[in-house]
Amino acid sequence: MTGSNTPVLVLASGNAGKIREFQAMFAPLGIRIAGQKEFGVKSCDEPFGTFVENCLAKARNASRQTGLPALADDSGLCVNALGGAPGVFSARFAGEDADDEKNNLLLVEKLQGIEDRRGHYSCVLVAVRSADDPEPLIAEGFWEGEITDEPRGKGGFGYDPYFLLPEFGRTAAELTADEKNAVSHRGKALARMAELLTHRWGLKA
Ligand code: IMP
Repeated sequence: MTGSNTPVLVLASGNAGKIREFQAMFAPLGIRIAGQKEFGVKSCDEPFGTFVENCLAKARNASRQTGLPALADDSGLCVNALGGAPGVFSARFAGEDADDEKNNLLLVEKLQGIEDRRGHYSCVLVAVRSADDPEPLIAEGFWEGEITDEPRGKGGFGYDPYFLLPEFGRTAAELTADEKNAVSHRGKALARMAELLTHRWGLKA
């Protein structure tokens, strides 16, 4: 369904790849995902220590400025031996001018000599019907792996070359995009959110 009466869910992100991915996932529910830039939404701060709090702030901000239902996502890598770090700081683990390479170098350095290599990617999605919605929908997805010392693979992004999937014997950067989407934290959270939108908001194709 693509007519002008199609309900819109504003995505609190400016990332064109994400907007396409979310649109594809939720199209069967008869809704259109629109990036918040389309409505001139000014992004908000993400000052909190948890994915869910930052996500909720972003979703409420987008809904408040558009008057429409809104959806936000947040994700990152959490490493057991580092008490869950880098967590919400994943994108800027090595500082404000960090990039993937600097973040990965710091991660490997912090894990030097540490035997416990377990970690997981975490993805949270939050949807609100209005800015003050007292019952936000919250979907989570996790993807367990181990942090390696040597990078492998050219796919993915972020920490993927160092994120080893024992069940595949490959890093996340060695998976195809389809293989990754089928098992990743984001893929699982998206599938869960589709269920919640269906069962709690009554959306269906
Ligand atoms: P965002 O929430 O999608 O903006 O992701 C925040 C940060 O978490 C990224 O900049 C990456 O450092 C890390 N991250 C999240 N998902 C992934 C992934 O699938 N692979 C690698 N890094 C990820």
